[in-house]
Amino acid sequence: MVRPHLPAAVASLARLAGNLRWSWDEGTRDLFRAVDADRWRQCQRNPVALLSSVPQARLEELAADAGFVAALAEVTAGLDAELGEDRWFQARSSPLREVAYFSPEFGISAALPQYSGGLGVLAGDHLKAASDLGVPLVGVGLLYRHGYFSQVLDGDGWQTERYPTLDPELTPITPCDGLTVTIDLAGRTVAARVWRAQVGRVALYLMDSDLEVNDAAGRTVTDRLYGGDTEHRLAQEILLGVGGVRALRALGHDPQVFHSNEGHAGFLGLENIRRHVEELGLAFPEAVEAVRAGTLFTTHTPVPAGIDRFPRELMARYFGSWCTACKITLDELMSLGHEPGEAPDAPFNMAVMGLRLSAWANGVSRLHAAVSRSVVFAGLWPEVPDGERPISHVTNGVHVRSWVAPAMRELLDRHLDAEWQRAGTDRWDGIHAIGDDELWSVRERGAEALVAFVRQRLRGGAERRGLAGLEAAWCDEVLDPHLCTIGFSRRFAAYKRATLLLSQPERLRSLLLHPHHPVQMVFAGKAHPADDNGKSIIQKLVRFCRDPELRHRIVFLEDYDIDVARALYQGADVWLNNPRRPLEACGTSGEKAALNGALNCSILDGWWDECYDGTNGWGVPSAEAQEDLDRRDELEANALFAILEAQVAPLFAERPDGRPPGPWLARVRASLASLGPFVPAARMVRQYVADLYEPAAQRRDDLAADDHARARDLSRWQARVARHWHEVGVAAVEADADAVDAGETVRVTAEITLGGLGPEDVEVQLVHGDIEGGGGAIVDHAVEPMAPMGGGTYAATLRCAEAGRRGITARVVPRHPDLVTFAHLGLVALPPDGPPGP
Ligand SMILES: *Cc1c(COP(=O)(O)O)cnc(C)c1O
Repeated sequence: MVRPHLPAAVASLARLAGNLRWSWDEGTRDLFRAVDADRWRQCQRNPVALLSSVPQARLEELAADAGFVAALAEVTAGLDAELGEDRWFQARSSPLREVAYFSPEFGISAALPQYSGGLGVLAGDHLKAASDLGVPLVGVGLLYRHGYFSQVLDGDGWQTERYPTLDPELTPITPCDGLTVTIDLAGRTVAARVWRAQVGRVALYLMDSDLEVNDAAGRTVTDRLYGGDTEHRLAQEILLGVGGVRALRALGHDPQVFHSNEGHAGFLGLENIRRHVEELGLAFPEAVEAVRAGTLFTTHTPVPAGIDRFPRELMARYFGSWCTACKITLDELMSLGHEPGEAPDAPFNMAVMGLRLSAWANGVSRLHAAVSRSVVFAGLWPEVPDGERPISHVTNGVHVRSWVAPAMRELLDRHLDAEWQRAGTDRWDGIHAIGDDELWSVRERGAEALVAFVRQRLRGGAERRGLAGLEAAWCDEVLDPHLCTIGFSRRFAAYKRATLLLSQPERLRSLLLHPHHPVQMVFAGKAHPADDNGKSIIQKLVRFCRDPELRHRIVFLEDYDIDVARALYQGADVWLNNPRRPLEACGTSGEKAALNGALNCSILDGWWDECYDGTNGWGVPSAEAQEDLDRRDELEANALFAILEAQVAPLFAERPDGRPPGPWLARVRASLASLGPFVPAARMVRQYVADLYEPAAQRRDDLAADDHARARDLSRWQARVARHWHEVGVAAVEADADAVDAGETVRVTAEITLGGLGPEDVEVQLVHGDIEGGGGAIVDHAVEPMAPMGGGTYAATLRCAEAGRRGITARVVPRHPDLVTFAHLGLVALPPDGPPGP
């Protein structure tokens, strides 16, 4: 490898290339383009690759070019400011010193292909927003030698996969001075090198096991993202979780908070526990409490197949020595990955372990958290009512400067608070002052750029297939920048139903070829390499797109990645998402499109369920009550077609005197004004900091003080409560009246037995709410504390504000000042035969 020699005057180009801030900073990208525009394109806008191939003479020329040197100085000063300034976080008085964010994938730039889809892109946006806000965060992940695959369609529209090898020399990462970490894989020691990618002010550490000291199996641990069998997956997850904690320590980091982005990194909890037992002398249950206090688990999927499960036999081989170190049995380890009542030989569930070893947990949208509590993880706390199971929500957001087109940002800059791109702002009413002409011209620029991008990609594909001569002319006529463009791009998982509209081909054809208000569609996305069903969905779509009568109006773009995604978000007029509700945990592509002025037209799932307000796009109703899936798809396709035909297409085309479409743009403004404050990743990261990282940091520090006195105390207390809980009972609940007038009060008393526990160990609560049906359970319940009256009697007074049938009961739950919520223990005592409990 011959590295470039940068003349002194342009030496800081290397610094700029080494910080992935260039991936979202337009000024830095312009500068690299100015180095050599053709090469910049050939290197796929990767500045490290660019600098490695620019002729020395060109570098000398640039060094002598005063204009270039001045521009370089300005951009470099921008980087320095970005790294050094006080930001949102620095203005807080915060207990948080450092949080480590673990993820199996990070989508930061197409030049670092270490992501497969939404989960990774979200992780990338999380790091970028943390950098913008000055949050003390480090990322931890794996460096895959082949990353995720490139998608190539064969002549028949079938997806094939290419795995280009990543060349670290041409990638924006640097090795951490010879640092390696080792892990034990079923008795084999495997070493991994640690690389560092710099994301603004945030460091991202990536581990790579392709080292000569390893045997062949060891070297391939980090070969591919989501490749290989279950055992391979287990090895990857051990490297990520266990190796990641070790790497941080070796690098001198001591994070208070460990954030696991989905279950794949969950073994970080086991490594932290081992360390507390072996190095800090805690007993296993004490170590669990100490570690849980500072651990946050984010669940990302309500689809069971999306959760890793490992057979007991594999766990025995890979974690036998861990059990010995922690002085626990294999059964005890397995129970960490089981719901209550599961057999000891049931597979070990990574999400269940993630939840058990985290005092903090969240879903990624309001609806997703509700489904996680009431369906996916209901079995983990069966005694605890739905609404009180300990999973909160932080809805995913998107990094503004990475996704919003420069022209749109300039426009918004003129009308919003200066902070809207970084820390975010709640004040988006400035939007309403933007005139139709101004807004329309920015939208048109996005559309033109998208059409040019699509044509260029199609020409490239035709050339690769050796069809350039035949297809070149057609490629230049695909799409029309003046028509309404509907975008759809995402992973081709079955529940996302990419071909929902193809279920009624004639109706789709009429929509595309309508004489007065036709629309055009652009699709993109990859199917998992092992998912033949996903591949056949792509094939069906590609075949439809090849119809000579339609192909100028509907296209499938090959090899979906961050660059394709960005062009689509910036150019589409309508963003379509039609998953089977509620399987889309959040979805973020619609958020990115919305910030560029597109209108969402989607099933009310994930983030859209929370954000659709009737004026800011279109909400497609879903037919969840319909159990026959084919029938359900049909009903939902009808609903979607009806909206597209009667509302979307005509509204876009409504242009008296050729003026911009006023009613359409009014909707775009409503969309920007309502979604702008909410969808940026800055809002998401601020919420993580205030609601989760800071309380977790504080609790972790409190429990660790004085040689973990409070962690030890909490674990002793929990053992005592568990031992005595069967003695706790609610003997009788009485109200002093059966019927009252609205506005009056009833006094409720309950007789409680506590057995070996004391009143300080529990909270006695009055539970009240509406009665379901005639005499069913209490629904939408609320809880009030009851006060001890002596002799085991507790009492509370309830004001009955509204008329109707109400149910009341009393319950006992455990209470301790260091318990985040009683729900973690899963213990609730209700009357045996009283009114039905919630
Ligand atoms: C935003 C994004 C996604 C996620 O899109 P969803 O709507 O959540 O499926 C996937 N891939 C890329 C490249 C993205 O930019």
